[in-house]
Amino acid sequence: MKQLNHWIDNTRTDLTGERTGDVFNPATGDISGSVVMATGADVDTAVQSAKQAFESWRDVSLTKRTAIMFRYRQLLDENRVELARLVSAEHGKVLDDALGEVGRGIEVVEYACGISTLLKGDITPDVATGVDTYSIRQPLGVVAGITPFNFPAMVPMWMYPVAIACGNTFILKPSEKDPSAGLLAAELFAEAGLPPGVLNVVQGDAEAVNALLEHPDVQAISFVGSTPIAKHIYRTGTAAGKRVQALGGAKNHMIVMPDADLDTAADAAVSAGYGSAGERCMAISVVVAVGDVADHLVPAITARIEKLRVGPGLSDEPMDMGALVTDVHRDKVVGYIDTGVAEGATLVADGRGFTVAGHENGFWLGPTLFDHVTTDMTIYRDEIFGPVLGVVRADDYDQALDIINSNPYGNGTAIFTSNGGTARAFQRDVTVGMVGINVPIPVPVAFHSFGGWKDSLFGGNHIYGPEGVKFYSRNKAITSRWPTVSHAAGSEGVNLNFPGHD
Ligand code: NAD
Repeated sequence: MKQLNHWIDNTRTDLTGERTGDVFNPATGDISGSVVMATGADVDTAVQSAKQAFESWRDVSLTKRTAIMFRYRQLLDENRVELARLVSAEHGKVLDDALGEVGRGIEVVEYACGISTLLKGDITPDVATGVDTYSIRQPLGVVAGITPFNFPAMVPMWMYPVAIACGNTFILKPSEKDPSAGLLAAELFAEAGLPPGVLNVVQGDAEAVNALLEHPDVQAISFVGSTPIAKHIYRTGTAAGKRVQALGGAKNHMIVMPDADLDTAADAAVSAGYGSAGERCMAISVVVAVGDVADHLVPAITARIEKLRVGPGLSDEPMDMGALVTDVHRDKVVGYIDTGVAEGATLVADGRGFTVAGHENGFWLGPTLFDHVTTDMTIYRDEIFGPVLGVVRADDYDQALDIINSNPYGNGTAIFTSNGGTARAFQRDVTVGMVGINVPIPVPVAFHSFGGWKDSLFGGNHIYGPEGVKFYSRNKAITSRWPTVSHAAGSEGVNLNFPGHD
């Protein structure tokens, strides 16, 4: 069985190694690994290492930092398949999907390769006679990232490449459900030349997270996960005086207008609803069908669901959808389907009881579709995070918009329409952070920033892109006067008035 350790000072270690957790292969149900869980003392060891490393890493020139980032990018590229296989083996998603995740993570590393221009300050000469004011951006120190199970390679890469390129040292606490990809990615960074302590990985659960939140030497926390934990992270981290960005859960709606191309919309709903078995924070979980659209769209979605190939993520046969991450999570999603039926939604496709021959103990659940979902139902209100799509029927565009804007989550949304005016009004008026116009999963590219509104993000900055650089650096404004040749060391005498700009 695989032993999954911490990564401190570019070395694998168990530190105290008092507690461990099981890691599963979702396609077989077998335990594939044992992950060590950090204690508070272990977290402190990681923080002290990162604190010491910061003293020299902040002085490493941008040219040298960039050279390491380029080498890292190259190593990640060479190890794409290996990383994706680790993701698939512990998360359950199919290999092509895992490769897509790794690719989107690498794009953030590519963005961080441009840190020399991203960290540029600015200068205003002659703000007063012989006086210049300029701003520079400096790193914060030791910063930490806490990440969810659903993108074990990509979400950590939303954080540490930018943080480290800015001159910080970083502690990653990956999900205890699928820690292998994060560990390999950290090892590759060391191979690229990253000095010891600049990126440490502590494995663990709430105990490790809470130790990071309370640690006086951790300056900032990036969190991605569910909304209740995001709220806890934000409240506790900010109360301890830290800079915090905490990205939470989602309930992403996709409006389909009567003027939309229904085949395109059905393809998009199925791709965005069932990709990664719905375990994506940008998955579409609610289709809002306007007018009589649902009468045509529901059969079109059903026909596509029937063709989906569900099976092991690392199967030799091409698969569309894999298993869910754990049996506990699969059972929770099944519970939601039971509740949806009990509360009166129409179950059009039922994924319960689905198995794969030869892999009967895998954490399977087939694609599930509900029609006639209403906004008071549990399956509408809660984030299900599984392959369960619900169709809500709306009379018109205004009602559809109101449904989305009344929802407490605001991560992603999409509209399918052929009317530019409707699309333009939607992108202006919808209270959601990431909007797709005929695009079902509008995850911004690495040089824009990612983040939701409302209960999908707590804190002022979105993640990666320009807002990531802003989050991981702080501004310093300098006002300087140098003696000139003609006014060598000249003093204007004592003046107790507030400084002006003559
Ligand atoms: P989770 O909130 O259970 O766990 C996230 C992290 O928090 C993990 O590292 C976990 O160890 C830690 N954690 C769990 N319970 C904790 C506690 N009580 N105290 C302190 N730390 C704790 O989330 P998950 O199940 O791993 O991931 C799925 C969730 O993440 C979904 O809600 C999904 O929408 C969300 N997510 C959001 C985004 C986004 O960008 N907004 C992206 C990916 C996933």
